[in-house]
Formats: sequence, structure tokens, C-alpha cells
Amino acid sequence: MPTTVVGVRRGAEDGVEHHEVVIVGGGNAGISLAARLLRQGARDVALLEPSPVHRYRPLLSYVGAGEASMSSLERPAADVAPDGCTRVTEQVVAVDPTEPSVTTRAGRRIGCDRLVVCPGLEEDWDATPGLAEAYAAGWAGSTFVVDTAPRVWPALRGVTRGRVLFTVPPEPAPCGVTALKPLLMACDHWRRGGVLGRLDVRVVLPGRGPTDVPAADRVLEEVLASYDVQVVRNARVSALGDHRVTITTPDGEQALDDVTFAHVVPHYRAPRWVVESGLAGPSAAGLVDVDPLTLQHRSHPAVWSLGDVADVGTRPSGGALRKQVDVLAHNLAAGDRASLRHYDGYTVMPITVSRRRLMLVEVDREGRLSPTVPFPDLVRPRTLTWLVDRYALPVTYYRRILRGKV
Ligand SMILES: Cc1cc2nc3c(=O)[nH]c(=O)nc-3n(C[C@H](O)[C@H](O)[C@H](O)COP(=O)(O)OP(=O)(O)OC[C@H]3O[C@@H](n4cnc5c(N)ncnc54)[C@H](O)[C@@H]3O)c2cc1C
Repeated sequence: MPTTVVGVRRGAEDGVEHHEVVIVGGGNAGISLAARLLRQGARDVALLEPSPVHRYRPLLSYVGAGEASMSSLERPAADVAPDGCTRVTEQVVAVDPTEPSVTTRAGRRIGCDRLVVCPGLEEDWDATPGLAEAYAAGWAGSTFVVDTAPRVWPALRGVTRGRVLFTVPPEPAPCGVTALKPLLMACDHWRRGGVLGRLDVRVVLPGRGPTDVPAADRVLEEVLASYDVQVVRNARVSALGDHRVTITTPDGEQALDDVTFAHVVPHYRAPRWVVESGLAGPSAAGLVDVDPLTLQHRSHPAVWSLGDVADVGTRPSGGALRKQVDVLAHNLAAGDRASLRHYDGYTVMPITVSRRRLMLVEVDREGRLSPTVPFPDLVRPRTLTWLVDRYALPVTYYRRILRGKV
């Protein structure tokens, strides 16, 4: 890292506030990276994050199954920001990638030597006509939209007959396959309660299989069949209105009436300012155009990105950040291109197949299985893996991952 003065340094030339490293977004990626950089000896890291609350979002799936409360996954943002960084509680509205510098909604301009862009993804409500209205009316909602996550379980728990629809969102999405978690936990609940046979449960998949990873899909297809879930493949929900859901498939449109509850996850895209600031590449979602190996911007060498918003050619997940943070923390301090490290595209899909068993699908950028431990086979659903996902990982997240120790 270049030597700089601790804390805020005023640019000598133009009086603009300046930091060694500026990180936009204090989510899983931004906080973990800031903490890691400070542990490595960086002395001037600024973290821009407007939200007063930090959430461990994987637990939202368990909120949607009545297995966790919102308060168990939330912490004040001030408590999770690493000691030693400069916290800026403002929203970035524009980036100048050439300087580089950022401008906040309040009009504050902050320059830096290196800029890391990690604001995550935003819901693209316009992509699904009627979805916002169905959420507002209360007959649709999902664990992915924070405000509606607490009402998913009350809506699903009491269903005893009728039609319930779930979707897996198309990529990019924040660990989109975990949309299967509330579905399969609800099916287990309905089966135990003796009502599953009276329900018409459907899931709309963006691809051919639930994950399109053959070893995982062999297990998941059996699980879906055992719950008698009707699977609509290569499809997307294209409209919603008054308990009616329209699904577009390669064979045309199907309309489903009398949908009791629609767990339809919105589609996602990068924040608009990412595109407007010239940071996006060719992806339709406007993801940040980085070299997927080094995480450095392809056109602006002082700009870097990681997390859900970075175009790294793999499915976004919190688990992927474990490796991305490691690579980027090294690369930000590297003196020359030859010493840059590479991210192998590792990502993870944890899927509950019942209320007490979970399978862990770890893959590389090509979608090949890439297990962290060679034994046991974690694709096989296990109670132990469920216990780790539900109880151990949230503790590890707040105690170790956000502190840059993992
Ligand atoms: C329901 C659900 C279940 C999930 N389950 C799992 C799971 O089981 N396993 C797993 O590995 N992953 C899971 N994930 C995915 C995981 O949460 C994300 O991959 C991870 O949070 C991505 O981190 P990030 O920092 O890139 O983005 P985020 O966590 O979205 O953080 C981005 C941050 O940037 C801030 N920000 C946004 N815009 C601006 C701006 N303009 N200026 C400044 N700051 C800004 C936001 O407020 C936010 O705090 C799940 C996600 C969801 C939604």
C-alpha cells in the first residue's frame, strides 16, 4: 500500500477529501474487505454505507420458514464497521473512474488512490409487470425483499388448500438458488401437517434444472418429485395481477389463476449509477466490468470490484466472497501486474431439502463441483450441514468473516 496520512487527507491541489482506499458499499463484501485491509496494515480506508442496519441475509431464508427472527440477523451498521476505517454514512450517486472519485447524494466528493465498488444488486421491479403491486397487495412477497420476508412464513404456514407458486430468479441474483429454501422447508411443513396432497405447489425455474449442476439436480429433482411440486422449466414469471400469474415458457404463455401466495423473487440488476458512471461492461444487468480473475476494472486500473455487482462469470453468493476478499486484499497491495492473484470463480449454493437437512453445492466458474472439503460429500443432504448453515455460519459471519479473519 502506498504510504498515506492516517484518516482523511485533503488533496493538496484541489482541496478534495482523499483516502488511500475508498470502498462503496458496506455489505458482506465491503466490510470484510475493509477489515482485511486494515489487518494487513492499510492505514487509510474509507467505507461508504448509508444503511443504519447490517443484515446477515442468508438467515432471511430461515425467516421465511419460521426458523429465525429478523432481529437475529440484524446488527447496527456502526457495530460491524471495522475499527480504524473512516465511516461515511452517505449514498454514492456517481463515480468518476478516471480520477478516481465518488460523489455522494449530499454532494460530497471524495477522491482516492484505489476505488472498490461493491454496492450489491438492486431489484429490477420493471422487469416483471405487476410484481410491485402484488407485493403491495400482500399476496406476493419473498425472503429476498427485506420488508416482505417477515410475512412469508405467516402466509405459507396456514395454507391448507389451493395454489402456491415459487420462483428461482434468473442470474445475476444474490444466491438466487436459495429461493428453493423457503419452498422446500414449506413443503416439509405441509407434508408433516397432512395438507401437502391438497395443495398445487409449483416452482418456476430460469433453467432446465434447479441448479443446472448435474450432481445437485439429481438430488433436487427427487426431492421436488417427493413433494409433488410441479416444475416449470426454462421459464419466467412475466406478469402478475389479482392472484393471477403469467408464466412465459419456450412453448408460450401459461396463466395461473387463484394463486393463494406467490413467492416470486424480483429480477436483479446493478445500481443505475454503475452504468451511468461508465463502470459497466456488456452484461445486460450492468455489472461492473472487471477482469474475473484479478477483479481489476478492465478500463480503469484504479477501480476494482467484488461481490454481487462484479461481473466475475460466476453466480453471486456470500460464500464466493471468502475467496474474492482474499484475492482482492492481496491485489490492492500488489506492486505490479505479475504479482496479482487470481479468483477461481468459486461459489456456493446452500439448499435446505427439508426443515432439518441441507445440501451444499460448491462449484467453480465452469460449474464443476469444487468442494472445500473432500469428505464427506456435502451435496448429499445432511442434518449436520443444516446445523452449520442455520447456527454456526451466522456466528462465524459476525465474529470472523466481517472482521477479515476468514
Ligand atoms: C434471501 C437471501 C438469501 C441468501 N442466502 C445466501 C446463502 O445461504 N449463502 C450465501 O453464500 N449467500 C447467500 N445470499 C447472498 C449474499 O447475501 C450476497 O451474495 C452478499 O450479501 C453479497 O454481498 P455484497 O456486499 O456484494 O452485497 P450486499 O450484501 O447487497 O451489500 C451491498 C451494500 O452496499 C450498500 N449500497 C448500495 N448502494 C449504495 C450506494 N449507492 N452507496 C453506498 N452504499 C451502497 C447497500 O446498502 C449494502 O449494504 C443470500 C441473499 C439473499 C437476499
